[in-house]
Amino acid sequence: MLFLMSELLDSEIKFLPGVGPKRAELLGEEADIRTFRDLIYYFPYKYIDKTRFYKVSELDTDMQYIQLRGKIRRFSTEGGGRGSRLTADYYDDTGMVRLVWFKGHKWVLNAYKIEKEYIIYGKPTLFSGAFNIVHPEVEEVEKRESRVASALEAQYSTTEKMKDHFLQSKAVAKLIATAFTLPGLRFAETLPDSITRQMKLMSIQDALLRIHFPDSNTDIENARFRLKFEELFYIQLNLLRYKGSRTKNTRGFLFSVVGERLNSFYANNLPFALTEAQKRVIREIRSDLGSGHQMNRLLQGDVGSGKTMVALMSMLIGADNGFQSCIMAPTEVLAIQHYNSVSRFVEGIDAEVALLTGSTKRRERARIEQGLLDGTITILIGTHALIEENVRYKNLGLVIIDEQHRFGVAQRAKLWQKSDCPPHVLVMTATPIPRTLAMTLYGDLDVSVIDEMPPGRKPVKTMSFTDAEREKVFGFMRRQIEDGRQIYVVYPLIRESESLDYKDLEDGLESMARAFPPPQYCISVVHGRMTSKDKEISMNLFRRGQAQIMVATTVIEVGVDIPNASVMVIESAERFGLSQLHQLRGRVGRGADQSYCILMTSHKRSAEASERINTMIATNDGFEIAEADLRMRGPGDLEGTQQSGMAFDLKIADLGRDGQILNLARSRAEEILGDDPELARPVNQVLRATLRKLFGKKCSWSEIS
Ligand code: ADP
Ligand code: MG
Repeated sequence: MLFLMSELLDSEIKFLPGVGPKRAELLGEEADIRTFRDLIYYFPYKYIDKTRFYKVSELDTDMQYIQLRGKIRRFSTEGGGRGSRLTADYYDDTGMVRLVWFKGHKWVLNAYKIEKEYIIYGKPTLFSGAFNIVHPEVEEVEKRESRVASALEAQYSTTEKMKDHFLQSKAVAKLIATAFTLPGLRFAETLPDSITRQMKLMSIQDALLRIHFPDSNTDIENARFRLKFEELFYIQLNLLRYKGSRTKNTRGFLFSVVGERLNSFYANNLPFALTEAQKRVIREIRSDLGSGHQMNRLLQGDVGSGKTMVALMSMLIGADNGFQSCIMAPTEVLAIQHYNSVSRFVEGIDAEVALLTGSTKRRERARIEQGLLDGTITILIGTHALIEENVRYKNLGLVIIDEQHRFGVAQRAKLWQKSDCPPHVLVMTATPIPRTLAMTLYGDLDVSVIDEMPPGRKPVKTMSFTDAEREKVFGFMRRQIEDGRQIYVVYPLIRESESLDYKDLEDGLESMARAFPPPQYCISVVHGRMTSKDKEISMNLFRRGQAQIMVATTVIEVGVDIPNASVMVIESAERFGLSQLHQLRGRVGRGADQSYCILMTSHKRSAEASERINTMIATNDGFEIAEADLRMRGPGDLEGTQQSGMAFDLKIADLGRDGQILNLARSRAEEILGDDPELARPVNQVLRATLRKLFGKKCSWSEIS
């Protein structure tokens, strides 16, 4: 940001009075506080009203943190060695509580005096008939009165290690207070007058002071609003400015005609009528491809909504205009499946399709590389092998990234650099993304949504069972198999303990084999440790209906499409995230039969796991599920967002809660760029300067989406 005294704010934290090299190291490592600015932008996560004092006689067991005012009468040490504890009898005029320390005894005995008046702060617990407060905060009454702190005391998150070195929340607050007393600590306004006036925003100076030292709840609200708005506003301004300049400046390949290939596909090969939503999206894409500008479009659609068909038809338009296209899939299984279905779809049409993955043999690979260079291959399907250095194209015109959240930004960047004039880019999401997140992650992309399912789908029925009810589930599975249906059984795979996971899978497989013995039943198995050839054999066994049950780890999560499979059993469902559960459930319900999703859970499960399971039972709507996921976990933890390179780190705004502020921020940014696209006017210089400061020369992260 733009500061008058920017040298001061950029100073290393060790130069702040009260810090020094040791604490500086700790602050840097544990809290990422390296400069004065980092410290000021280390915002509290909550506030506690310190004007309220309780009496000992008022205490009860469900109280959270409270404060008392009284005196210590007596210290005593109980137990010996490492388990010893120091206690103090602390009285006010209504009774006694016991203060307890498990460590730092010497320090405590030195610091606190008998019969002196202290304010203590902590959480009371009942222990052998008396109230105890473990490791209380203790403060001299006189000190409290002279402290900068206001009645509402900000609480900062600190790690165990920080606490061990007396850098508790209170100590952090003290450092921040010290910083604010430094002469010359001034923050120049970072938003133009027009916005602060229109939005009735606090000045940046006040907001930063009040977020740490509020006088009232209104102060907190106003300070938070100002800081959240600013944070979201600059992200939007950056995205929109980038989008605007790209549309203006980048040429794109012109796909001007619809030709023989698409027409003949449409007339002869299309196996079903397109949904209205598919037609609309294809029109949107066609208009981009024919505009002469580069397309950058995000295609959102729920699992099973038919995104692949849209991709295929876009590639045929490319082929009709003499361009090559590629689809990049997140897993080999999925790439192979795309390859098979695309090959089938384009039978009899003049378009050569090739498959390139990590396990493509050297000779085949050489042949493909040649075909890509001389242009005989028009459609290339693969995994990230597609973006390796030596893969070169004659004229790559369209890149489709399927289920993109599996690909990191860096991988996408490589793809981007494949040709001088950038190819058109279509990003297809695996599952819907909440609007706020889409607006922030892909705010510079145009968005198409397939909001309609192919006709004749019955919503999947979802149920949950505990391990104790397994026999019942097996019975249900047998009846389904008798009716000619096929069943997936999926086990979680958690990278941290591969060996454990395979044990789960193997144990599960064993009990499955006992319940469904050959020759009556055939079970196929797919997991990540198999060679791709074995995987393919197993998949085919199931695809052709020779196996009734497929036992798998999450390799089948994305995209696998076998319409006759109508039951999805998910083992240890509590270990999966919501979007993963939704993805898995999307594997069934693709044919005309009623489909089922059975969530197996252990008897004990966390409240959060229960909420996930209940959400799954309550709704089939991927957009709703994505919103629930965002609310429950926040964007940082959403599946895929980390890999997808959420290159910004929101310090105060929360995409799960601050959707309205985001909308305001986006509208203001649009208005400003509408008036002054280059931010050239004098009144907008502060915006330019702040953008540069925040995002620097670095391109916007979405430049490479
Ligand atoms: P996703 O959007 O999850 O990638 P797919 O593209 O795999 O979904 O499509 C799911 C299934 O629906 C496929 O079997 C596909 O052939 C079929 N499908 C796609 N569009 C239609 C349509 N308009 N009518 C009927 N079936 C369709
Ligand atoms: Mg798909």
